[in-house]
Amino acid sequence: MNILVQKFGGTSVANLERMRLVRERVKLGLAGADKAVVVLSARAGETNRLLALAEEWSSNPDPAERDVLISTGEQTSAALFAMLLRDDGLKARSVLGFQIPILTDEEYGKARIRSIEADRLRAWLKDYDVLVVAGFQGISPSGQVSTLGRGGSDTSAVALAAALKAGMCEIYTDVEGVYTADPGIVSNARKLDYIVYDEMLEMASMGAKVLEIRSVEFARRYSVPVHVRSTFTGTRGTMLIKEVKKMEQALLSGVTQDKDQARITLRACPDRPGVSAGIFGPLAQAGITVDMIVQNPSLDGVTDMTFTVSRKDLLKALAVMEEERGRMPGMEVLHDSNVCKVSLIGVGMRNHSGVAAKAFETLARENVNILMISTSEIKISCLIEEKYIELAVRALHEAFDLGKSAEG
Ligand code: ASP
Ligand code: MG
Repeated sequence: MNILVQKFGGTSVANLERMRLVRERVKLGLAGADKAVVVLSARAGETNRLLALAEEWSSNPDPAERDVLISTGEQTSAALFAMLLRDDGLKARSVLGFQIPILTDEEYGKARIRSIEADRLRAWLKDYDVLVVAGFQGISPSGQVSTLGRGGSDTSAVALAAALKAGMCEIYTDVEGVYTADPGIVSNARKLDYIVYDEMLEMASMGAKVLEIRSVEFARRYSVPVHVRSTFTGTRGTMLIKEVKKMEQALLSGVTQDKDQARITLRACPDRPGVSAGIFGPLAQAGITVDMIVQNPSLDGVTDMTFTVSRKDLLKALAVMEEERGRMPGMEVLHDSNVCKVSLIGVGMRNHSGVAAKAFETLARENVNILMISTSEIKISCLIEEKYIELAVRALHEAFDLGKSAEG
């Protein structure tokens, strides 16, 4: 049995007219597959509306009850869409997370999927051609409804595709695929036909908001073929794959920017064993994720340490540092949130040298000062002043010739 999984995001199911368009996409999908499992998000704006409602009702909403509430957005979409399909004579029914069941842990609001029972789905697929599954939701070991975190319907879809060994998982959204850069910044940004899972993970974590990052981790772990494409144009989008043939491997796949960066510098912090652990341990305990870290060589037993955190965590991180300062006399804490990260991403870098040098030269030519650098096998990131971010993205995209050629 050839099963196609299709996921439609909030803007695709926003109203009746759009749901009718989605129905056409499902019918087209069924023309090339035996059965379809359609995963839906809540209608655009609905999850935010429900979250606000919880805040209005309670000064401290119980996380499990909040999940019961916000999961109704997807339940509504699934029921309405199943009705539309049935009106058109299709054999379809809605399915909620707990009915499958999609088992998660107890982390309400950001639950992780532990397992999916595929037997029941398979049994239903004998009687129905389309199962309309409510995305974003599962059930915890104690039998409570759980949700997977914002954007979690992508993860529902990829996990279902893995569990059902689906031939393809199509993620329909309001953009045409994954681009070499943000088309809002770079006018000749090019849609990629293919992207390797590892590259997509880097892009997803750096603000190319096409796919939720956990869904990409899932896709990579289970080698799920994913096709990101537009509901509205129906054109071929971007395929996520394990690897590209060596000959066809481009050096770079894209340039991304991340504005969600704030920098903290600890000046004159004592340089002795355990200092890093003493700084980053308490930050981790406070639930703060640290991104880039640079430590300067020490002089007279003191050193400067600089790191970046998400802007929303800046105040919390400064409070943690304030507490630690007692143990490090003389240490000064500086911070700056007018910084951004620009990154070059590409698995082709593994086999090439000189990418970093060319990137630094490019930024130098534009007079952009680099504040911090971090690299991995497939990524080079530079922290720069926020006001230069668009200039930097355009210059790098141009220097590495990533855009569409003039003829298209
Ligand atoms: N409705 C949820 C959200 O807005 C999940 C999703 O759409 O993927 O985050
Ligand atoms: Mg989404």
